[in-house]
Amino acid sequence: MADEQTFIAIKPDGVQRGLVGPIISRFENRGFKLVALKLTSPGQELLEKHYADLATKPFFKGLVSSAPSAPWSGRVRTPSRPAVSSWVLPTPLTPPPGTIRGDYAIEVGRNVCHGSDSVENAKKEIALWFTPSEVLKWTSAQAKWVYE
Ligand code: UDP
Ligand code: MG
Repeated sequence: MADEQTFIAIKPDGVQRGLVGPIISRFENRGFKLVALKLTSPGQELLEKHYADLATKPFFKGLVSSAPSAPWSGRVRTPSRPAVSSWVLPTPLTPPPGTIRGDYAIEVGRNVCHGSDSVENAKKEIALWFTPSEVLKWTSAQAKWVYE
């Protein structure tokens, strides 16, 4: 669990609404460690790969069409909690107040952020969105100085 990592993307609607800071803060406030982040306009090819498992869905075309504003994307890890499962609920469930989507999402197509749904998919998504050199080699031992 100590090294579990997830991939979070703030989607174009979240960027347009100025929610980058508030959403990052929610992860930091809960003790997640940010090890890489970028502001990027991913383009259709990358989005098609990212959402490849949804290729047959009727909403796929709209989902992967290049958005006018850039999704911000970041990756976090935590030393003490499961990074993947502890923050996001699957889309069919109505997110309760207090969760990121519960507090900010307007509807399913405007739900402000993405989070990996499994450790395996997190690894794939991290490799898709980041090169290894863009990612900080963070360990809890290396971060100790922050608290000294
Ligand atoms: N989505 C949509 N309409 C739907 C279902 C999903 O527009 O009926 C979009 C929505 O942005 C969602 C994304 O497709 O976040 C990926 O769908 P998935 O079921 O994987 O949901 P998530 O993993 O984001 O909870
Ligand atoms: Mg999903």
